[in-house]
Amino acid sequence: MFRVSLESIIAIYLAVILCGVFFVWVAAEIFRRGREHRRRKYFVICSICDHVFEDPSENDLAECPRCGTMNERGKVLEI
Ligand SMILES: [Zn+2]
Repeated sequence: MFRVSLESIIAIYLAVILCGVFFVWVAAEIFRRGREHRRRKYFVICSICDHVFEDPSENDLAECPRCGTMNERGKVLEI
């Protein structure tokens, strides 16, 4: 059996922990971007009355249920 020093065990342990944290962080970032993309795709902010509403259709224009204004989906930057 090969001999392993205490420093090597600690270094391997820390590397494994850091790799695990890195992969969890990358996965969380991928899921967060997916959720944000879906939210931006279906939620629209009215440019006239600032009403936030959901429009599941694929149309470029979404009608505000409060004031009736047609809003462009691409203009929504932040919710
Ligand atoms: Zn409106």
